[in-house]
Amino acid sequence: MSKHAFYLDVDRCSGCMACAVACMDQNDLEIGAEPTAWRNVFKVETGSGADARLRYVSIACMHCEDAPCIIACPTGAIAREPGTKAVKVDQELCIGCHSCSIACPFGVPRFGVEGTMQKCDLCTVRLENGLEPACVRACPTKALKQGDPNAISQDRETKAAARLAAGA
Ligand code: SF4
Ligand code: SF4
Ligand code: SF4
Repeated sequence: MSKHAFYLDVDRCSGCMACAVACMDQNDLEIGAEPTAWRNVFKVETGSGADARLRYVSIACMHCEDAPCIIACPTGAIAREPGTKAVKVDQELCIGCHSCSIACPFGVPRFGVEGTMQKCDLCTVRLENGLEPACVRACPTKALKQGDPNAISQDRETKAAARLAAGA
Protein backbone atom coordinates (compact mmCIF):
# COMPACT_ATOMS: atom_id res chain seq x y z
CA MET A 1 0.00 0.00 0.00
CA SER A 2 1.30 3.46 -0.90
CA LYS A 3 2.24 5.49 2.16
CA HIS A 4 1.04 8.73 0.57
CA ALA A 5 -1.88 9.42 -1.76
CA PHE A 6 -3.29 12.56 -3.34
CA TYR A 7 -6.96 13.35 -2.94
CA LEU A 8 -8.73 16.05 -4.95
CA ASP A 9 -12.19 17.28 -3.96
CA VAL A 10 -13.45 18.53 -7.34
CA ASP A 11 -16.33 20.36 -5.62
CA ARG A 12 -13.74 22.57 -3.91
CA CYS A 13 -11.30 23.06 -6.80
CA SER A 14 -11.68 26.58 -8.23
CA GLY A 15 -9.11 26.16 -11.02
CA CYS A 16 -6.93 28.90 -9.52
CA MET A 17 -3.69 27.09 -10.58
CA ALA A 18 -1.94 27.88 -7.28
CA CYS A 19 -0.96 24.19 -6.99
CA ALA A 20 0.65 24.13 -10.45
CA VAL A 21 2.52 27.40 -9.84
CA ALA A 22 3.76 26.19 -6.42
CA CYS A 23 5.04 22.99 -8.05
CA MET A 24 6.95 24.96 -10.69
CA ASP A 25 8.45 27.14 -7.97
CA GLN A 26 9.39 24.17 -5.78
CA ASN A 27 11.06 22.36 -8.67
CA ASP A 28 12.57 25.36 -10.47
CA LEU A 29 10.52 24.74 -13.62
CA GLU A 30 10.31 27.68 -16.00
CA ILE A 31 7.04 28.71 -17.63
CA GLY A 32 7.14 27.80 -21.31
CA ALA A 33 10.37 25.81 -20.93
CA GLU A 34 10.77 22.03 -21.17
CA PRO A 35 9.79 19.94 -19.35
CA THR A 36 6.30 21.31 -18.95
CA ALA A 37 4.63 21.54 -15.54
CA TRP A 38 4.56 18.43 -13.37
CA ARG A 39 1.09 19.39 -12.09
CA ASN A 40 -1.59 20.65 -14.48
CA VAL A 41 -5.15 21.87 -13.97
CA PHE A 42 -7.70 20.83 -16.59
CA LYS A 43 -11.13 22.27 -17.37
CA VAL A 44 -13.91 19.70 -17.71
CA GLU A 45 -17.42 20.56 -18.94
CA THR A 46 -20.19 18.22 -17.81
CA GLY A 47 -23.92 18.06 -18.53
CA SER A 48 -25.82 20.35 -20.88
CA GLY A 49 -28.43 23.10 -20.76
CA ALA A 50 -29.47 23.97 -17.21
CA ASP A 51 -27.35 21.05 -15.93
CA ALA A 52 -24.14 22.29 -17.59
CA ARG A 53 -21.25 22.61 -15.17
CA LEU A 54 -17.62 23.59 -15.43
CA ARG A 55 -15.24 21.70 -13.18
CA TYR A 56 -11.49 21.82 -12.66
CA VAL A 57 -9.26 18.81 -12.11
CA SER A 58 -5.70 19.17 -10.81
CA ILE A 59 -3.52 16.26 -11.89
CA ALA A 60 0.07 15.13 -11.30
CA CYS A 61 1.68 11.71 -11.03
CA MET A 62 -0.58 9.37 -9.04
CA HIS A 63 2.36 7.36 -7.62
CA CYS A 64 0.31 4.30 -8.62
CA GLU A 65 0.20 1.20 -6.44
CA ASP A 66 0.95 -1.10 -9.40
CA ALA A 67 2.78 1.47 -11.53
CA PRO A 68 2.97 0.51 -15.23
CA CYS A 69 5.84 2.98 -15.75
CA ILE A 70 8.04 0.96 -13.37
CA ILE A 71 7.25 -2.27 -15.23
CA ALA A 72 7.95 -0.64 -18.63
CA CYS A 73 11.33 0.91 -17.77
CA PRO A 74 14.15 -1.25 -19.19
CA THR A 75 16.88 0.19 -16.96
CA GLY A 76 15.14 0.38 -13.59
CA ALA A 77 15.37 4.18 -13.71
CA ILE A 78 11.79 4.56 -12.44
CA ALA A 79 11.38 2.97 -9.04
CA ARG A 80 9.46 3.33 -5.79
CA GLU A 81 11.32 5.13 -3.06
CA PRO A 82 11.31 2.87 0.03
CA GLY A 83 10.50 5.59 2.61
CA THR A 84 7.73 7.69 1.09
CA LYS A 85 6.77 5.08 -1.57
CA ALA A 86 6.96 7.89 -4.18
CA VAL A 87 7.57 6.74 -7.76
CA LYS A 88 10.75 8.58 -8.77
CA VAL A 89 13.06 8.83 -11.80
CA ASP A 90 16.79 8.24 -11.27
CA GLN A 91 18.35 10.72 -13.71
CA GLU A 92 21.60 8.71 -13.79
CA LEU A 93 19.86 5.55 -15.00
CA CYS A 94 17.31 7.12 -17.41
CA ILE A 95 18.16 6.67 -21.11
CA GLY A 96 15.20 8.76 -22.36
CA CYS A 97 13.56 5.88 -24.24
CA HIS A 98 9.98 7.16 -23.48
CA SER A 99 8.76 3.66 -22.44
CA CYS A 100 7.50 5.01 -19.09
CA SER A 101 5.60 7.87 -20.73
CA ILE A 102 3.93 5.51 -23.20
CA ALA A 103 3.03 3.03 -20.42
CA CYS A 104 1.59 5.69 -18.08
CA PRO A 105 -2.21 5.97 -18.53
CA PHE A 106 -1.94 9.70 -17.83
CA GLY A 107 1.17 10.45 -19.96
CA VAL A 108 2.79 11.92 -16.86
CA PRO A 109 6.58 11.53 -17.46
CA ARG A 110 7.85 14.43 -19.61
CA PHE A 111 10.99 14.48 -21.75
CA GLY A 112 13.41 17.10 -20.44
CA VAL A 113 16.09 19.09 -22.26
CA GLU A 114 18.74 16.92 -20.61
CA GLY A 115 17.37 13.91 -22.53
CA THR A 116 15.85 12.23 -19.49
CA MET A 117 12.31 11.90 -18.15
CA GLN A 118 10.99 14.31 -15.52
CA LYS A 119 7.99 14.04 -13.22
CA CYS A 120 6.52 14.77 -9.79
CA ASP A 121 8.60 13.21 -7.00
CA LEU A 122 5.88 13.79 -4.37
CA CYS A 123 8.07 16.57 -2.94
CA THR A 124 10.11 13.87 -1.19
CA VAL A 125 12.46 16.42 0.39
CA ARG A 126 9.53 18.28 1.94
CA LEU A 127 7.89 15.04 3.18
CA GLU A 128 11.16 13.91 4.75
CA ASN A 129 11.22 17.20 6.65
CA GLY A 130 7.65 16.87 7.89
CA LEU A 131 6.19 19.32 5.35
CA GLU A 132 3.26 18.90 2.97
CA PRO A 133 3.96 18.80 -0.78
CA ALA A 134 4.18 22.34 -2.21
CA CYS A 135 0.99 21.91 -4.27
CA VAL A 136 -1.06 20.83 -1.23
CA ARG A 137 0.39 23.63 0.90
CA ALA A 138 -0.57 26.23 -1.74
CA CYS A 139 -4.19 25.16 -2.32
CA PRO A 140 -6.38 27.95 -0.88
CA THR A 141 -9.60 25.92 -0.81
CA LYS A 142 -8.11 22.71 0.68
CA ALA A 143 -9.33 20.85 -2.42
CA LEU A 144 -6.00 19.06 -2.70
CA LYS A 145 -4.88 16.80 0.11
CA GLN A 146 -2.15 14.24 0.55
CA GLY A 147 -1.67 11.55 3.15
CA ASP A 148 -2.29 7.96 4.13
CA PRO A 149 -4.86 6.50 1.66
CA ASN A 150 -6.78 4.68 4.41
CA ALA A 151 -7.03 7.82 6.55
CA ILE A 152 -8.24 9.85 3.55
CA SER A 153 -10.88 7.19 2.69
CA GLN A 154 -12.07 7.08 6.30
CA ASP A 155 -12.33 10.88 6.43
CA ARG A 156 -14.40 10.92 3.22
CA GLU A 157 -16.66 8.16 4.59
CA THR A 158 -17.25 10.08 7.83
CA LYS A 159 -18.09 13.29 5.95
CA ALA A 160 -20.44 11.45 3.56
CA ALA A 161 -22.23 9.85 6.53
CA ALA A 162 -22.58 13.28 8.20
CA ARG A 163 -24.07 14.72 4.98
CA LEU A 164 -26.57 11.84 4.75
CA ALA A 165 -27.53 12.24 8.39
CA ALA A 166 -28.12 15.97 7.78
CA GLY A 167 -30.32 15.13 4.78
CA ALA A 168 -28.00 16.90 2.34
S1 SF4 B 1 4.13 8.07 -13.99
FE1 SF4 B 1 2.05 7.41 -14.51
S2 SF4 B 1 2.07 5.16 -14.25
FE2 SF4 B 1 3.88 5.98 -13.21
S3 SF4 B 1 3.21 6.20 -11.07
FE3 SF4 B 1 2.90 8.20 -12.11
S4 SF4 B 1 0.77 8.16 -12.82
FE4 SF4 B 1 1.35 6.04 -12.31
S1 SF4 C 1 3.94 16.80 -4.84
FE1 SF4 C 1 5.51 18.36 -5.31
S2 SF4 C 1 6.38 17.72 -7.25
FE2 SF4 C 1 4.42 16.62 -7.01
S3 SF4 C 1 2.89 17.90 -8.04
FE3 SF4 C 1 2.92 18.49 -5.89
S4 SF4 C 1 4.35 20.21 -5.79
FE4 SF4 C 1 4.72 19.14 -7.72
S1 SF4 D 1 -4.76 25.18 -5.84
FE1 SF4 D 1 -6.49 23.93 -5.16
S2 SF4 D 1 -8.31 25.06 -5.88
FE2 SF4 D 1 -6.53 25.90 -7.02
S3 SF4 D 1 -6.47 24.66 -8.93
FE3 SF4 D 1 -5.12 23.64 -7.45
S4 SF4 D 1 -6.41 22.07 -6.45
FE4 SF4 D 1 -7.79 23.54 -7.46
